[in-house]
Amino acid sequence: MTAIAFVGLGNMGGPMAANLVAAGHDVTGYDLVPEALERAAGAGVRVAGSAAEAVAGADVVITMLPSGRHLLAAYRGDGGSEGLLADALPGTLFLDCSTVDVADARAANAAAVEAGHRAMDAPVSGGVAGAEGGTLTFMVGAEEADLATARPLLDVMGGRAVHCGGPGGGQAAKICNNMVLGASMLAVSEAFVLGERLGLTHQALYDVMSTASGQCWSLTSYCPVPGPVPTSPANNGYRPGFAAALMAKDLGLAANALEETGVEALVGSRAAEVYRAFVEGLDGEPRDFSAIVESVRERSGG
Ligand code: NAD
Repeated sequence: MTAIAFVGLGNMGGPMAANLVAAGHDVTGYDLVPEALERAAGAGVRVAGSAAEAVAGADVVITMLPSGRHLLAAYRGDGGSEGLLADALPGTLFLDCSTVDVADARAANAAAVEAGHRAMDAPVSGGVAGAEGGTLTFMVGAEEADLATARPLLDVMGGRAVHCGGPGGGQAAKICNNMVLGASMLAVSEAFVLGERLGLTHQALYDVMSTASGQCWSLTSYCPVPGPVPTSPANNGYRPGFAAALMAKDLGLAANALEETGVEALVGSRAAEVYRAFVEGLDGEPRDFSAIVESVRERSGG
C-alpha cells in the first residue's frame, strides 16, 4: 500500500484517484472545488482541507491539473501558500499526469529535484472513459528508478506505460501525438465535406477510405460524420468525448514547441489556428473536437 496525495480531482483525476482507492492504496485528495472533493469522498478518497494537509506523510504526490501554469503554482506556491514541494517530506516522488508545455514540465521537474524530491511526467491518453476504466496509456518522462517506483500505480490507473525518455519526454510524446490527431481529424473532416459537394454519401466515402490509404484513427474510431461509426460523438450531437477546447490547448502546446525548436510544421500550425478559431466561436459551449467538420462546412458556404 502506498500513501498517495492526489491533487486535482476533476474529470480525469477524480476517477484515477478512485481506482487507486479501489486497489487498496491510501489516497488523500485535494481540489480547489468543493464539488470535486465531495465526489472524491464518495469514492473513498480521504479529503484534505489544504494542499499541505494532503501531502503530509505522502510517499507519492500525483497531480492532474488543467495546465502548466496551475502545475507550477501548485508546486511552488502562489504567494498565499508554500506549495506542494515545500510541504512534502524530502524524497517524495512527484508524478504529474497533467498535459502541459514541455518547458513547464522540465521546470516543474527541476524545481522538485532542487527541493530534494524525485519527479516525473506521465501525461495520458484515453480520456474520461480510460480514466474510469483504468485503461489509460501513460507517456512517461522519467529516470528508470522513478518509473519503477511509480509503475504499480500506473498499472492500476492504466493499461500501458511507455517510457519516452527523461524529464519532459512524456509531454513531448503527448504533444507530437495530439498534433497528428488534430491534423488528421481536420483532414478527414475536409474530405467528408468535399465528398458531400462531389455527390458522395458519407457511407460510400467511409467504405473506401477505411480500407484504403486514407485510413486513420480519426476516421475509423472517431468518424466526424454520423452513421459509419455508431459510437463516435457525431452520433450524439458532438457531446464530448474529447472537448474541442482541450484539443485547441494541446495544439497550442505543439505550436509553442514548434516555435521553440524552429521546426516548420505547416499542417500542425494550421490545425492549431483552425482549432483556436473554432473554440473562440463556441463561446464556452462544450463540443467534441470532431465537430470541426461543421466549421469546415460553414467556412465552405454552409
Ligand atoms: P478538470 O478541469 O476537470 O480538472 C482539473 C482540476 O484541477 C479541477 O477540479 C480544478 O479545480 C483542479 N485544480 C486546479 N488548480 C488546483 C490547485 N492548485 N490545487 C488543487 N486543485 C486544483 O480537467 P481534466 O479534464 O481532469 O484534465 C486534467 C488534465 O488532463 C489536463 O491537463 C488535460 O489536458 C489532461 N487530459 C484530459 C483529458 C480529457 O479527456 N478530459 C484527456 C487526456 C488528458
